[in-house]
Amino acid sequence: MPGRITITKKVSFSKPTPSTIPPTPNSPSRTTRPLSNRRQKEAHFAKTPTRNLFKTVVTIHVGPERHAFQVHKEILCQASPFFAAAFDSDYNFSEASSGSLAFPEVRAIDFEFFVQWLYRHDLAHEELDVPKAAYFRLIRLYILADLLRIEALRNDVIDMMIMMSEKWNSVPTPDDTMLLHDQVRDKTGLRKLVVDLFIYKKTDQLVEKHEDQWSERFLREIFCELKRTIGTGKPVPFRNSKLTCQKYHEHKETTQCSWSLEDETDSEDDLAKTNQYKAKPRRP
Ligand SMILES: [Zn+2]
Repeated sequence: MPGRITITKKVSFSKPTPSTIPPTPNSPSRTTRPLSNRRQKEAHFAKTPTRNLFKTVVTIHVGPERHAFQVHKEILCQASPFFAAAFDSDYNFSEASSGSLAFPEVRAIDFEFFVQWLYRHDLAHEELDVPKAAYFRLIRLYILADLLRIEALRNDVIDMMIMMSEKWNSVPTPDDTMLLHDQVRDKTGLRKLVVDLFIYKKTDQLVEKHEDQWSERFLREIFCELKRTIGTGKPVPFRNSKLTCQKYHEHKETTQCSWSLEDETDSEDDLAKTNQYKAKPRRP
C-alpha cells in the first residue's frame, strides 16, 4: 500500500542490563533539558520543502530475511545523502530504476527506529521509556545514521543519550562499550560523550567491580580524558547546551544549535579567554 511503512516480521533482540550507578552530588534532575525541542530546529527539517515529499514509494529490504519497509523516496533522499545517491537516476544504479534497495547487514528493528525518526522527527520509543536505559539501541541507531550519513540523526541520538543518562542516572554497560568501540568511528561525538559520562558520573565502583569485561580501548580513552580534565574545574560538558553542541554535535550539514544566554557564558571558549575554569554554582 503506497505511503504505508510496513515491517513483515519482528526480529527478536536481547537486551543487556544497563549499568545503573549511585547518585552523585552533581547529578541533579534539573539537567534533563527539553533537548528534543531544540534539536527539532535543525536545518534538516527546517529546510524541508512542504510539497513533492510524498510522490514515490520505494521498498527497502532490511536484514538477511529481507524485511520490507515501504518509505517515501523523497523523504529518504532529503534526509540521507546515501539514499539520494542510490536513487539518483543520473548514477544509473539499479536501485533508481527498480525502486528498491537491500540492506542485508542492518537489523530490521534498527531500521524501523530510523524510519520512525524520519517521519516523526523525534526518538520517542517505548523501549527507551523505562528506568533501565537501552543504550545499545541508541548506539546501533548512531551506527546506522553514520552509514546513511545523516548528521541530524547522529546529533539527536547524542541528545537522547544525555537525557537518558541524566534521567535514570545510568551509564552504558560493558557490552555497550564493546559495541561502541568495535563499530563506532574514532573521535565521534558519541565516543566522546560516553567517556565523559563515565568521568563525570560516580562510576568508579561500577568499573572496578563489574563482572563483565570493559572495552580496553574505552578504558584507555577514559584515562587519557581524565588526564586532560583533572584539576581544571571545567563545567560538566553534557549539562551545558553550548558545550554539548561544541563537543558532541556535528554541524557541517545542519544549522548550529541555539543556546540560552546562561549557557553561552559557560562555553569553553569564553572560559578559556578569561582563564576562569571554575565549577559553576548549581541552581537551587
Ligand atoms: Zn549543536
